[in-house]
Amino acid sequence: MDIYLDANATTPVLEPAREAALAVMAQTFGNPSSVHGAGLKVRALMDEVRATARRVLDAPTGRLLFTSGATEGIQTAVLSALMHLRQRRHPPSFPTAPSPDRIRSAPPTRVLYGATEHKAVPEALAHWNSVLGLGLDIQAIPVGRDGRHDLNWLREHLDGTGLVCTMAANNETGVISDLDGIAALLRDRDLLWLVDGVQALGKLPLHLIRRRIDYAPFSGHKLYAPKGIGMLYVRDGAPFTPLLAGGGQESASRSGTENTAGIAALGAVLKALETGGTFASTQVLLGHRDRLVQALRDAFPGVIFNAPFDISLPTTLNLSVPGLSARTLLDLFDAAGIRASGGSACGAAKAQPSYVLQAMGLPHAQTASAVRLSFGPADAPEMLREACDRLRACGEALQSSCRPGDAPGASMQAPTTAASHERITRWVVDGACCYAVWDAASGHCVIIDPLPELTAPLAQWLDCRHARVAAVLDTHGHGDHASSAPQLRERLADRMLPAQDLDALGWPQSADEIVLGAMRLKRLAVPGHTADSTAYLLDDESGLCAAFVGDTVMPGALGRSDFPVSAPLSYADSLHLLLNVVGRDTLLLPGHDYDNRFATTLAIECDAQPLLDGVLSGRLAPPEFARAKAELERDLPPTQYQTIACGARAAPAGAADSVDISQDLVASALALRQTAGAARPRLIDVREAYEHQMGPLSARWPVAAEVDVEVVPLSLLLNQLDAWRSLPEETPLVFCCRSGNRSAQAARALRRLGHSQAYSLAGGLALLP
Ligand code: PLP
Repeated sequence: MDIYLDANATTPVLEPAREAALAVMAQTFGNPSSVHGAGLKVRALMDEVRATARRVLDAPTGRLLFTSGATEGIQTAVLSALMHLRQRRHPPSFPTAPSPDRIRSAPPTRVLYGATEHKAVPEALAHWNSVLGLGLDIQAIPVGRDGRHDLNWLREHLDGTGLVCTMAANNETGVISDLDGIAALLRDRDLLWLVDGVQALGKLPLHLIRRRIDYAPFSGHKLYAPKGIGMLYVRDGAPFTPLLAGGGQESASRSGTENTAGIAALGAVLKALETGGTFASTQVLLGHRDRLVQALRDAFPGVIFNAPFDISLPTTLNLSVPGLSARTLLDLFDAAGIRASGGSACGAAKAQPSYVLQAMGLPHAQTASAVRLSFGPADAPEMLREACDRLRACGEALQSSCRPGDAPGASMQAPTTAASHERITRWVVDGACCYAVWDAASGHCVIIDPLPELTAPLAQWLDCRHARVAAVLDTHGHGDHASSAPQLRERLADRMLPAQDLDALGWPQSADEIVLGAMRLKRLAVPGHTADSTAYLLDDESGLCAAFVGDTVMPGALGRSDFPVSAPLSYADSLHLLLNVVGRDTLLLPGHDYDNRFATTLAIECDAQPLLDGVLSGRLAPPEFARAKAELERDLPPTQYQTIACGARAAPAGAADSVDISQDLVASALALRQTAGAARPRLIDVREAYEHQMGPLSARWPVAAEVDVEVVPLSLLLNQLDAWRSLPEETPLVFCCRSGNRSAQAARALRRLGHSQAYSLAGGLALLP
């Protein structure tokens, strides 16, 4: 059973609402504008729903329009208000009987909206301000740490303001606005007030009339009606301009044939609200929330709730778990069949910190790792009990997979057990890579290029493995920031193996190599990006297996050499040295990997980067190379993470290349193998250990019996790349994960390394039956 805890994004459709919609589609399907019986019947139904809505919203007067949803309601309200502000600026030449309040003030020049408003509001304001050419000053009302509007700020900005937009309750945090406080400030002011009532419908009374709210949009699908139906309340006497003109439906307020099935379904929900018995009382909802909170505290000690409970909807929990990224939590929840989202659903596809939490002034770690759990007032208590059980199971899975945490924004996870394919683990924070080289037999470990965000997660990771740390190394002294190696060493004091005379990069001066069981780490000076740039070469039983090259060579770029600490004239010689020592095909593990390419080789980079090819082939002499490189690095823009770019990127990311393969194709490839003896596809699950604990792939994959499923978590992919790229070219490798995102990264990385038969299961396991 799916546990759906994303009710603020949308809800399922209540059974009576489904039935009402079906009945309209099957029987009462007439056009409400028709004057014959079929039309009159459905018109009567619409009138009845509107009357119910007026009662439920306590809005006996004013307009009550059916819309396609809140976004349309917001557009209509904003257009109406801005048209009115325009008219005040350019009044008709012969005004007839101006109303007293119209003469009171000069035409407003400003519009205000809450900083945590749903994007539909500020985007609509900007859009109509631009379309109407008004040039209004649109400003966000700041909110406090509790998510509520700063009423002092609002008071100070009311002069000259023509429209104020404040939501009733926030969709990401559930924070309930102080609408009475705002109403008191706006009373007797010559301005308009829009209150987005989407998340309040059925949960909070809005007192539209008493508070003198001018516009209030609602959306049916947030309260068990289908998508595509909503309502807009407009106060009697508030300015109104139709958004849609045409056949004159809705008394010419909103033309277009009405969504009668949607209206009927909404009517059923409103009726249920009115008659009671379907939706739980606030008291019951508070009980559900308490139990969820307790389950979360049991599962994730240290969990932080990002909004105060006493001023939030009981149905919304916004939380962060220190040391766990939102991605990790959501992957874990999803593996447990709990559907939740990071921040708002609209923003969920973009891995960006929540602007709502940022506006509340929460620290980056909290905003970047926030997850929202939301349920609805008609959700069954059994479902919520099961949710609590599964949340606790998630906590246990995390503990027992020895996977205590990663940094917010970091993508990485850790293995459950030690094996040779778990030697190198990688973490990535905003494109910067950190590696652990770990020998399970001896328990010895080296950390390369630690990052400040990872200090706590790395310490936990090492604790979990009882690892002994032979060295914490940097590949270079950074041009733009200090290394976090000293902090990590301090934090790991009782795990550090004794070492003396560390050089500036953390290498024990007296040692030629660092031994980790059967592995050996050696260093190679490669000045260029910085004067102290060093590559670390990893040998195993079979010889050189990988080189940690820092920023000297990155996928698609060479490290920039225009820092004061750079050695641009040595760069060419360092590249030649690297080529001589590691050759063209050894895996290079970079200090930055902005496009999830994981690893590269000099051969691949020579193909992708003409400058590198020029210097290594001897066509470019070192001084020419230095000149051309300096030219390339002039005025480098920051990265997509707004961090300093570490080099000029020569090769485009290629993220658009499709690597997707459908489930049907995988199944037919398996069938083909059986009939024609074609190469057997290998299915590789790149999800992390704790996700597997929540449900192994074999239980869900329909052809599991016919295929070998290998488990290689994405964080450990580096360990397999060499083996995979030397497979016969015709062997298909199909990667899969939860949504198809991580598996596509793996497939692209492998293709770039030369294995063209690498695919990603389209849509991921989420689409499996
Ligand atoms: N306002 C709020 C507070 C919301 O939560 C949403 C939807 O998430 C909207 C407006 C937009 O609603 P719709 O997408 O149904 O038009």
